[in-house]
Amino acid sequence: MINISFPDGTVRQYEKGTTAIKIAQSISDGLARNVLAAKVNRLNTPESGFEVWDATRPIYEDAKLILLTINDTEGKSTLWHSSAHLLAEAIEAIYPGTKFGIGPAIENGFYYDIDLGGKTISQEDFKKIEDKIIELARIGNAYIRKDVSKSDAIEYFKKKGDEYKLELLDGLQDGTITFYEQGNFTDLCRGPHIPNTGFIKAVKLMNVAGAYWRGDEKNKMLTRIYAITFTKQKDLTDYLILLEEAKKRDHRKLGKELELFAFSEKVGMGLPLWLPKGAALRERLIQFLQKAQIKDGYLPVATPHIGNKNLYITSGHYEKYGADSFQPIKTPHEGEEFFLKPMNCPHHCEIYKTSPKSYKDLPIRYAEFGTVYRYEQAGELHGLTRVRGFTQDDAHLFCRPDQVKEEFCKVIDLVLYVFKALDFNDYTAQISLRDPDNKTKYIGSDENWKLAEQAIIESAAEKGLTTIVELGEAAFYGPKLDFMVKDAIGRKWQLGTIQVDYNLPERFELEYTGSDNQKHRPVMIHRAPFGSLERFIAVLIEHCAGKFPLWLSPDQFAILPISEKYNNYAKKVLDLLKNYDIRGLIDDRNEKIGKKIRDTELQKVPYMLIVGEKEEAENIVSVRKQGEGDLGSFGIDDFANMINIEINKLKK
Ligand SMILES: [Zn+2]
Ligand SMILES: [Zn+2]
Repeated sequence: MINISFPDGTVRQYEKGTTAIKIAQSISDGLARNVLAAKVNRLNTPESGFEVWDATRPIYEDAKLILLTINDTEGKSTLWHSSAHLLAEAIEAIYPGTKFGIGPAIENGFYYDIDLGGKTISQEDFKKIEDKIIELARIGNAYIRKDVSKSDAIEYFKKKGDEYKLELLDGLQDGTITFYEQGNFTDLCRGPHIPNTGFIKAVKLMNVAGAYWRGDEKNKMLTRIYAITFTKQKDLTDYLILLEEAKKRDHRKLGKELELFAFSEKVGMGLPLWLPKGAALRERLIQFLQKAQIKDGYLPVATPHIGNKNLYITSGHYEKYGADSFQPIKTPHEGEEFFLKPMNCPHHCEIYKTSPKSYKDLPIRYAEFGTVYRYEQAGELHGLTRVRGFTQDDAHLFCRPDQVKEEFCKVIDLVLYVFKALDFNDYTAQISLRDPDNKTKYIGSDENWKLAEQAIIESAAEKGLTTIVELGEAAFYGPKLDFMVKDAIGRKWQLGTIQVDYNLPERFELEYTGSDNQKHRPVMIHRAPFGSLERFIAVLIEHCAGKFPLWLSPDQFAILPISEKYNNYAKKVLDLLKNYDIRGLIDDRNEKIGKKIRDTELQKVPYMLIVGEKEEAENIVSVRKQGEGDLGSFGIDDFANMINIEINKLKK
């Protein structure tokens, strides 16, 4: 018998050679029907840690076991990667002689790179391939794992005439090679896979594109087929609806329509240009956070966009970013080199060092909206979410070990204040701690780690956060807390990080004099509620579909005269409203009122003030709310007061 331990701490005994599927069956049939794979940590082989295994693979020794379903990331990727094998089987049935490259799972679905030998596949062929996949899935063929010798494997693919698999085999060691077979298709693969094809109930081919073999443009261009599968038809339907909704909310599309930002190839890829409306929005976010930070005792600092190479050698960033990032800026001086700053922290450490500090001076909180530059490959760039230059709402807190908890609580409050003002109401906190079995790979004393981890867990609990604790996910230099936010259509984004750091204080030899008159190292905390303004604004646009909260909206109202006759009255209304802390414009184009309303709706301006003969005579405005319609007539002061109340309510 062997002992199997489950995540909730229970331990059960099973026969040697049992499988995850059998174990699931021993718990309930319902569970067994949903198990796609399992994470296995063999206790006699601890160096391999948790590995994802086929649910049908025999377990011969005591192990920790986590059963994986479609709700787990690894469960999904196992389903999708297995589906790639099934796609290949379908392709081979329809297009005999096809050669196969690789077929990995990706974030949403999977692809397979194939060589059709001169044939082509287009959107019109998708239905036929999908039908074949479902036909094969219904048979419910098992994915059978086989160990093969390298020579047998080579012989198999030589006979089949698949030079891509032969090339892959070239890089593998004898004794480590496995085949997987389902139905009429055998693939070279390390696994894991789902138990059988019957789990695949719904499929959609998403796209077909060209892709160079192994990503190298010197190689042959293969056909890449993107697809996604689910274990229920309804999940596919929901996914396609979500995709449509996401398309409408795409920040790149809305950013253009709302005239917020642009990119120019002349300026350079991944370097966003903020247009007047976007820059104003950005400025408003900065002021909003600055105001809250001043209240919390932050001290604004400002540092340059570049730093001497030596600064980054000290900080360790040179080692991490140096060769793979922007290359140094040279001066006429031999050997003098500067780097675009990839992070603000080293500069802030140097600010800390400008004067001696005592325990009474701490905590010190330096805040800067600092622009940093990191090289990203052209293919990785994406709108505002992946860029090469971005502004962090950065701050570094330097404190004593006994102050970590209080500082964490304060930062959590600040992050929650930001979320509330911007209507992010669904979030969880992920706490990343040390791997308790592997303490030596972390820098900093055991005592300080314990203190900081305890402080993070306690402050999250005190603030009533829903938390997920991840062991072994901490950086080598300290534990952290990340906020995971769900947007309006259920997608998850990581926003807001609070990170403890024992490394930089050590590297920069930061000190304070303690009450014992001895020198001590301060603890450094990096924190950024937005993360970066660019990425945050992208997420915000997609979350609110461009309808920003009233306090942040580029224009809060638009005055729409019914005809040119009333432009003067419109100007009078605008002048009056300017006395209040609100902003808007007049649409004085010579257009019909219906068109003006439609255009203003598209610009997502929250309020429309329609003015004509009646309004001028009575000194009032007729108010329409974006997406809602008529609110009736208002005196001008009444309207201003009403929206000011709404602004203040939302911002708190
Ligand atoms: Zn595989
Ligand atoms: Zn930092």
